[in-house]
Amino acid sequence: MNSRRNFIKLTALGTSFFSFGKFMPLIAPKDSQTNSEKEKMMNEVLDSPIVLSTWEHGVPANEGAWKVLSAGGTALDAVEAGVKIPEADPKVRSVGYGGLPDRDGRVTLDACIMDEKSNCGSVAFLEHIMHPISVARLVMEKTPHIMLVGEGALDFALKNGFKKENLLTPESEKDWKEWLKTSEYKPVINFENHDTIGMIAMDKEGNLSGSCTTSGLAFKMHGRVGDSPIIGAGLFVDNEVGAATATGVGEEVIRISGSHLVVELMRQGNSPEDACRIAVERIVKKQPQKSKEVQVGFLALNKKGEYGAYCLQKGFNYAVYSNTVHNSLIEGKHHY
Ligand code: ASP
Repeated sequence: MNSRRNFIKLTALGTSFFSFGKFMPLIAPKDSQTNSEKEKMMNEVLDSPIVLSTWEHGVPANEGAWKVLSAGGTALDAVEAGVKIPEADPKVRSVGYGGLPDRDGRVTLDACIMDEKSNCGSVAFLEHIMHPISVARLVMEKTPHIMLVGEGALDFALKNGFKKENLLTPESEKDWKEWLKTSEYKPVINFENHDTIGMIAMDKEGNLSGSCTTSGLAFKMHGRVGDSPIIGAGLFVDNEVGAATATGVGEEVIRISGSHLVVELMRQGNSPEDACRIAVERIVKKQPQKSKEVQVGFLALNKKGEYGAYCLQKGFNYAVYSNTVHNSLIEGKHHY
């Protein structure tokens, strides 16, 4: 049943309120109800569809995704359409067109996508293509593989009608030339204009999908691939449990298989926020010193439409769009 109708129904009864991360009914299931009755009742208050994405550029990206979701489209179509917005925006200096280049002045892109059937596709170290997320989707749908990288990924994209473009904007070239003066490689904790976009969504059928796309860490070594195109690190979806995505220094996320860990922690019964917090604490435990110097943030959504985030350092935020939360930007809780 459509959640707008549920919302109207519940508010008409005067029995609803909002709490952080969830649309909560005041009518709680009773012990006398059978499990399936309780389940049915909780499903009726599920705040779906819903879309979440990382950082401020998540707000315009969510707009794109919401157009699809609110028209009854699938979470998969929504997460592709959504992240294409920052990919094409030259002002977003950490994703797609206009992304900061590697130390050799080349813009190399990483992206992946995953749907409710655990189908997934990914591209890494891809140059010259404005929408790596759409190439990742095509890898998922048209090949027997999950991941294509570098020239192979570019050849595949060009053979499938994508255009070769120069993604290095004059602004990014200028910043790179400035960086060359010192050539000091140091990930900045919360990068201006912020980081990777990871997007997770649930459609009106209750199905989950996710996408993740980035130009990676600015001035990285040529050939470096981060967490963002790696299923289980930058993104993971299990339609029985939930979805999670990551942003920040990819090396720290890969080390703990971050997004997969968050989903498994939700499977064990943790709330999305607790699952993200425990994953962040794992990073702290494994690399105590490094964890003080870098940023990592996780964002998660479960099958009930509850969501939450957690990060290492202050400064990570995410955008939420649903029938009850109209594209709000929320600060993630932080460890330090
Ligand atoms: N996770 C990305 C990477 O390591 C970068 C980011 O989110 O800022 O490539």
